[in-house]
Amino acid sequence: MDQVYLGQWQQVCTRLRSEFGDAAYNSWLRPLKFERIDGGVAHLQAPTRFMRDWVLSHYGERIRAFWQAEDETVDGLDIAVHPVAGRHSTAAANSDGTAPVDLDGVVPLESAAGAAPVVASESQGLRMGSALDARYQFESFVVGKSNELAYAAARRVADTAQVNFNPLFLYGGVGLGKTHLMHAIAWHIRERDPSREVIYLSAERFMYQFVRALRDRETMAFKQVFRSADVLMIDDVQFFSRKDSTQEEFFHTFNELVDQNKQIIISADRSPSDLEDVEERIRSRLGWGLVVDIHQTDFELRLGILEAKLARANVGDFPPKVLEFLAHRITSNIRELEGALNRLIAHSHLVGRPINLEMTQEALQDLLRANDRRVTIEEIQKKVAQHFNIRLADMHSARRARAVARPRQVAMYLAKQLTTRSLPEIGRKFGGRDHTTVMHAVKRIEELRQTDAALAEDIDLLRRMLEG
Ligand code: ADP
Ligand code: MG
Repeated sequence: MDQVYLGQWQQVCTRLRSEFGDAAYNSWLRPLKFERIDGGVAHLQAPTRFMRDWVLSHYGERIRAFWQAEDETVDGLDIAVHPVAGRHSTAAANSDGTAPVDLDGVVPLESAAGAAPVVASESQGLRMGSALDARYQFESFVVGKSNELAYAAARRVADTAQVNFNPLFLYGGVGLGKTHLMHAIAWHIRERDPSREVIYLSAERFMYQFVRALRDRETMAFKQVFRSADVLMIDDVQFFSRKDSTQEEFFHTFNELVDQNKQIIISADRSPSDLEDVEERIRSRLGWGLVVDIHQTDFELRLGILEAKLARANVGDFPPKVLEFLAHRITSNIRELEGALNRLIAHSHLVGRPINLEMTQEALQDLLRANDRRVTIEEIQKKVAQHFNIRLADMHSARRARAVARPRQVAMYLAKQLTTRSLPEIGRKFGGRDHTTVMHAVKRIEELRQTDAALAEDIDLLRRMLEG
């Protein structure tokens, strides 16, 4: 046994405790037991599998970083499951304050007293729910103009057990941080108050679980799990399929939780009123709480996110010019932006050359081209006006004559198809029209395309010109 390493583990524990607080430390970190250091990997033991997974995903990165700060040769972490680890460490730490070390292995197998109830109450929700990504926390979420409201609302829900608005409905285009915020809420609540049952899952998973429960005649268990949640989060509800009995089940669960004053958080890629496949009464109920949309990013936010990512990734020098270039050119969404940065770093490692502008353009050719090709609503309006021979101003005007109204609808339809703008955003660009007008236009053109071959051809041509 190496006393030096043991001393390091004690240092790491001290830092974990001050960073995460006594409650989290006692629940999750104190039960860990130091085993050994081997080939730069710190080996710890946890009393249960659940605990191991939890610690790895929630605290793993910090444990590793703290350890490396103590001893730079240590850059890996491994946690094994050892049923008595918790018991011993608690006992030893209580008696003399030092971290326990007992590697003899001649100990009776019994489960860790403190951990069992946590496991039992958490695992049902976890089994039904989807896994949480440890990277998606409030600390790693960069706040800008486009998402500050969503962030503030998420924080509010996570910080207090009081229910101020129900549901919280977050919506916005893909890759703009909805899932990140939901996971952050879940992590935060689980850490601050592990007794609260938080269930996070995608709408697809909810449907899958429900169908499975029906098949296995376990609907009672299904209902019980979801109705015992203190916080229920359902991600991407636009994927609820049309007129499905799962919608009905969801609605019952929803109402029951609201009646019990439990918090519900929903996300979608569009506003409640635009969820065409969701039944009208559910749709309208979803809009009763606080509805917040996450807008497209701006340059500052993109740059901030890149900087934050770099700081975390610990990659030495990175030319600021390249960062600005990326923030300027990759405008589609944050997921693509992150992907671009990762690819660039990987590329530079592979070819063994430092990152510069030239390499960036070479390595990200396809991505850059795709982002360039992204059409703006203004371009769509211009091309459509030209094609149908109307004035550009009529895209914004209140004129309802068929000769201008139809092309305007076509432009709205193309804006929905070819850009990532939301319906309200599109409406605003068309002379401040309401999003329901845009929705109606999209539907109308979709119908007409089926019956009016000439119009279908016009649209096809326009689309090709715009995308080409
Ligand atoms: P959505 O669920 O809206 O499609 P995600 O939450 O999956 O989007 O986000 C896509 C990626 O972008 C994730 O890796 C997420 O961590 C990252 N991301 C999104 N918004 C932010 C932000 N404000 N700060 C840092 N990372 C972000
Ligand atoms: Mg998502």
